[in-house]
Amino acid sequence: MNFSDNVLAWFTQQGRKHFPWQQNKTPYRVWISEIMLQQTQVTTVIPFYLRFMESFPTITDLANADEDLVLHHWTGLGYYARARNLHKAAKIIRDDYHGNFPEDIDQVIALPGIGRSTAGAILSLALEQHHPILDGNVKRVLARHFMVPGYPASSAFDKQLWLLSEKLTPQLGVANFNQAMMDLGATVCTRGKPKCSDCPLKVDCQAFYHEKQSQFPAKKPKKEKPEKKTIMVMFTNEDSVFMYKRPPSGIWGGLWSFYEIDQVQQLAKLSVDLGFAIVNQQPLKEFRHTFSHFHLDITPLVVEINPNCTIINDNDQQLWYHLEHGANIGLAASSKTLLALLSKN
Ligand code: SF4
Repeated sequence: MNFSDNVLAWFTQQGRKHFPWQQNKTPYRVWISEIMLQQTQVTTVIPFYLRFMESFPTITDLANADEDLVLHHWTGLGYYARARNLHKAAKIIRDDYHGNFPEDIDQVIALPGIGRSTAGAILSLALEQHHPILDGNVKRVLARHFMVPGYPASSAFDKQLWLLSEKLTPQLGVANFNQAMMDLGATVCTRGKPKCSDCPLKVDCQAFYHEKQSQFPAKKPKKEKPEKKTIMVMFTNEDSVFMYKRPPSGIWGGLWSFYEIDQVQQLAKLSVDLGFAIVNQQPLKEFRHTFSHFHLDITPLVVEINPNCTIINDNDQQLWYHLEHGANIGLAASSKTLLALLSKN
């Protein structure tokens, strides 16, 4: 049997076929799952996916929803640019394609947040169109099987793997093949300890033969991440804490957060600007949030304000977040940590 026959035979026997997005497959349902599954484990995704589809059963429902509500459904999944891009793309599909997901791969790739591999996955899984895919799992399987030198995201490496994926993707059974390749990478040819004895490709896998699985794909040369510091100010008033909505671009763009200062001496000015009078202030233990490109050391500063001073009413950009009742808003990862600290305090 050749490569694709082995993969398809394995899928028939072992493939995962019961996830919610594998039932009543439509491009929309597959699209949402593919985006959620980027950088997130399948078991984490399932409840988020079910809630999301219940709230936004069609692309038009998603397009018409308020961005805060979409981000609220994403709180806990991380990488919020994915949710913002989904929302933007849904609006384009509503306005330019009458709410129907486009079926031409170039039109799909032109949508925000959808690259060539995701577009190929959506159209092949939902519509059996013949497109190769190359997500992180597939890269790992191919890099090991053919001992392809280089590391993911380097252009020479990716180019060679795309050529392999194109060559190996069969004309018939493309949906099962692509699903199987992703599953193989996720469950058998795993990053840490590949289960080669269970793998349908072991008969002619080069890395297995040479016992060099751990060397493929090669690791990207590491760069030290810079360290930054900030103070996040939690103005509290009885059971509520003051938050603002971050600008759409930049870190945690469009999510709700706490005001930041570089030095504690800047607190007085910030309080005056907001019209707050300080009654008490207490720093909490610093913690670190790591982004892909830097570490951010955050010192939480709890500042109790005089309830009689000027109180800003809730609006689009600022709100009093009730610690017990919460709110339907997308929270920055740091905000979730800080709110938890505040509840404990
Ligand atoms: S034999 Fe091992 S290394 Fe090769 S593709 Fe299968 S799981 Fe990966």
